Amino acid sequence: MNFKDLKHWIMSVTRRSIMAAGLFFYILVSGVSAEGNSCRDDLKCKSSWADVDQEKLKNIYDFAENYKKFIGKARTELSFVEEAVKFAKDHDFKPLKDDSPMWPGARYYDVNRDRAIAFMVIGRDSLDKGLHVVGAHIDSPRLELKGRPLYNSGEFALFQTNYHGGIKNHQWTNIPLALMGRVDKKDGTSVIINVGLKQDDPIFMIAELSPHTDRGYKDKKVKNILKKEDLDPLVGHIPDFSNGGGIEGRVMQHLTETYGISRADLVSAELSLVPAYPPRDLGFDRGLVAAYGQDDRLASYAAMRAIAALNTPQKTALAYLVDNEEVGNRNNTGAKSTYFSTLLSRMLLSTLGQKYREVILKKTLRNSQMLSIDVNPGINPINPSVWEKGNAPQLGYGVNLKLYGQGNTANSEYIAWTREYLDRANIPWQTTTYKVGTAGGGTIGGEFSRQNMDVIDLGVPVLSIHTPMSISSKIDIYHLYGACRSFFESKRPM
Ligand code: MN
Ligand code: MN
Repeated sequence: MNFKDLKHWIMSVTRRSIMAAGLFFYILVSGVSAEGNSCRDDLKCKSSWADVDQEKLKNIYDFAENYKKFIGKARTELSFVEEAVKFAKDHDFKPLKDDSPMWPGARYYDVNRDRAIAFMVIGRDSLDKGLHVVGAHIDSPRLELKGRPLYNSGEFALFQTNYHGGIKNHQWTNIPLALMGRVDKKDGTSVIINVGLKQDDPIFMIAELSPHTDRGYKDKKVKNILKKEDLDPLVGHIPDFSNGGGIEGRVMQHLTETYGISRADLVSAELSLVPAYPPRDLGFDRGLVAAYGQDDRLASYAAMRAIAALNTPQKTALAYLVDNEEVGNRNNTGAKSTYFSTLLSRMLLSTLGQKYREVILKKTLRNSQMLSIDVNPGINPINPSVWEKGNAPQLGYGVNLKLYGQGNTANSEYIAWTREYLDRANIPWQTTTYKVGTAGGGTIGGEFSRQNMDVIDLGVPVLSIHTPMSISSKIDIYHLYGACRSFFESKRPM
């Protein structure tokens, strides 16, 4: 080796050492930043996409694919429960019976009137030590048929509708709608109707005025462009010349021939008009999901996947997916129903037999923790000013603790307990408080805190909530699933 070679060798070794040291520092620094990925210490949040490795990326995208497939079919509470029962059977959950043994690791599901469902995995601790309950709702804003829906107008047949949940009327016009639900007959049979989701099915549509003819309407306020009473879709067009020309009569005849139902049967029916679009990836990078009904089937799906992933938890895990949140948690399938406490008492009775007392149920509720999960609006890029940004949630930044105040926020010690398991499982989180006095929205949480449970409201931010297509971040969906799992698996006493 001559001097020139030696110099070259030394330089190359030095260069390699510097590169190696650089790489070492890069790994160290990125390792540190991965640790600081959530708001957990200094509240300096950043996008959770920043530190995702290839394996996790694959998990996130796979999870979103399954999610899209599920909510593409589950567009009403009835269809959600139908799909959830298939999911339960595929994941070794058995129907809960009154004498079902409460052995650690036993897996059960229970359906409330086809419109709500609970999944349970029995824990090592006795039930009266309390449960870990995740709650979410499976109804979404939509239109419903009135009891006497069919009428003729201007050479069309239309359906009279009512609305379920808070919607902006004009957003539901000129989009493909599917008709889903059931018609119950006097003989006790039930007919399922599902039209508009398949590519070659007909769809239904509310025809709004075109720009050519709406000049006198343009000065109207958005909310007055179309009244709630006028959200009636076209459902038929060809007159029935042989029977006096009525178009709606011909539609009724089609329903009778196809489903064996009469006009009076439509009185005992639950038929919903829901957007017919399939769930889609959004953006070149496919980082977002655009789909109908993500409020709150995003959270319901995450809860279901999380409980299915459990082995034997310390505390009994329960995922409770309910109906009617969008209309105030009403009726016997909504969160106000005593179904939930009855379910707990059934489980307690199965273990305690003659020793069962109501006070044991009350103590069980007192010893239980609930994670009430529901999506909430995130900062909208076109109109960020509706938020006070320092306390607003961003898509892709993880799950958000809802600090809504005014008696809606969880007790501070319960928030601290929640932070602990989220941090331990490396789930990025942020917080949400609306601009004071300008926004709002309920959840099911209050119905359980009034039963003396510890309840915290947690969600993921979503854009365009309550519209026909809302937008979520795939990484947030995955982290909500992770949040539910770490909650179920938490062994730390509250
Ligand atoms: Mn909701
Ligand atoms: Mn909602």
